[in-house]
Amino acid sequence: MFKWIGWLLLPTTLLAQNNLPDLLIVNGRILDGTGNPWYQADVAIHNGKIVTIGKNLPRNAYRIIDAGNRIVAPGFIDVHTHIEEDEKREPLAMSFIYDGVTTCITGNCGMSNVNIGQYLNWIDSLKPSVNVASLLGQSDVRKAVLGRANRNATAEELKQMLQIVEKAMQDGAMGLSTGLIYIPGTFTPTDELIALARIAGKYNGVYATHMRDEGDSITQAIEEALRIGREGNLPVQISHFKLSGQQNWGRSKKTLAQVDQARASGLDVTIDQYPYTASSTSISTLLPDHILADGQDSIQARLQRPAIREEVIKYILARLKKRGLRHLNYAVVAYFKPDTSYNGKSIEEINLMKGRKHNARAEAETVMDIQIAGGASAVFHGMGEVDVQQIMKYPYNMIASDASIRVFNEGVPHPRGYGTNARVLGLFVREKNILTLEEAIRRMTSLPAQKFNLKDRGLLKEGMAADIVVFDEKTVSDRATFEKPHAYSIGFEYVLVNGVLTIDQGKHTKARAGKALRNNSFGLVVQ
Ligand SMILES: [Zn+2]
Repeated sequence: MFKWIGWLLLPTTLLAQNNLPDLLIVNGRILDGTGNPWYQADVAIHNGKIVTIGKNLPRNAYRIIDAGNRIVAPGFIDVHTHIEEDEKREPLAMSFIYDGVTTCITGNCGMSNVNIGQYLNWIDSLKPSVNVASLLGQSDVRKAVLGRANRNATAEELKQMLQIVEKAMQDGAMGLSTGLIYIPGTFTPTDELIALARIAGKYNGVYATHMRDEGDSITQAIEEALRIGREGNLPVQISHFKLSGQQNWGRSKKTLAQVDQARASGLDVTIDQYPYTASSTSISTLLPDHILADGQDSIQARLQRPAIREEVIKYILARLKKRGLRHLNYAVVAYFKPDTSYNGKSIEEINLMKGRKHNARAEAETVMDIQIAGGASAVFHGMGEVDVQQIMKYPYNMIASDASIRVFNEGVPHPRGYGTNARVLGLFVREKNILTLEEAIRRMTSLPAQKFNLKDRGLLKEGMAADIVVFDEKTVSDRATFEKPHAYSIGFEYVLVNGVLTIDQGKHTKARAGKALRNNSFGLVVQ
């Protein structure tokens, strides 16, 4: 329809050119995603692909966008998201699109749909505003076969899990993910993980891991991830690389060296990071693993027994002591369904609200009560800025949000769901000079595309999918804060997904041009 109108408006001399591009971006500075500095060129887009990049292209197209000397870069690929379920509620994926993200890789931290084929088909029928690829989550695979049991798998159970992984990889999963601080990931022995990882590797998948520990025992946790890569014969992605707990601040120099040594030995290992000093996850991570086995009924029953409550109090107090803290003020509830007045308040504050004593013992009781009531998501302020910056300088590190699609004004979630990329470009590139603009763009585009086998994305080159962002590097900024997280990033003037304008002059067009991206890079499977 629009094309027809476009034709009518064109001079007759142009009608002979039946390959008139859908879109032409002119007057932009191209940052192509390789890490090279910008150059001046125009970009012509047709049928969802970049057809020509060149200087002074003829000004003929159905739509001409004047980039006004802004940066033109590949759309950002966020390799660590958790968008299952949210696509249905928020198919426009505003929180990602306004932050320049055009592709989300979901299914991280061991959590995904078990039937990846069905999930990806559903994405194609839904048509969200972003492209979606998925990993297969190991916790959910284990749940499907063993439930939340705290024990080793039998030979028959292992066989069933291997079959699920094989099917998911054939259906287009990008690899296997683990969340080894979550139930039942935490109950899984390394050998079982290696067996599953081997199948993912056979199909050119990656092993993406939220490691068993990101604090005191991080060295051993990295060792385990590297071992799974070596023995599973597949590339490793260490998710949301960080150092948790005040007592561990400064250790990133050593943990990054560990990654470097593995690379030097020939293992393809890379990492990703969100640019904040707080993490976010379930409040249940404050409790010992064995308390959380076998589902909510069992958890409730356990947490009602005085002996167990005492054990949990001791556990929480010991961890606080290690951090050098007297109160659970570093844990802030993001969303608590039964009582939303908790949202945005620390455990210390909630405990006082409940009229309890102002001490860590009572705060531990409050944590247990929240867990008995169904649990909550929380933001944990536990990282040091020195580590965040040190990790950000690391060249084999991608920028990834670890976020869901945010529902505007719901709860007080971690701001990373709105501002991750704009924060890196505004704060860490422009203001702090921690990395260059072209390097930041490389980490948001071609590096993730290479790692996750997205062969036609992540670079501005002829023939590539037209996922493109146009932004002003002098104004791009995140606006989401821990206190007021519901604010979209600014500075992205145009965002294209598969050649379709999804942000036009700074506004979401309601276009939903995203599609499912399947791993089909295993043409030759070696048995
Ligand atoms: Zn995680």
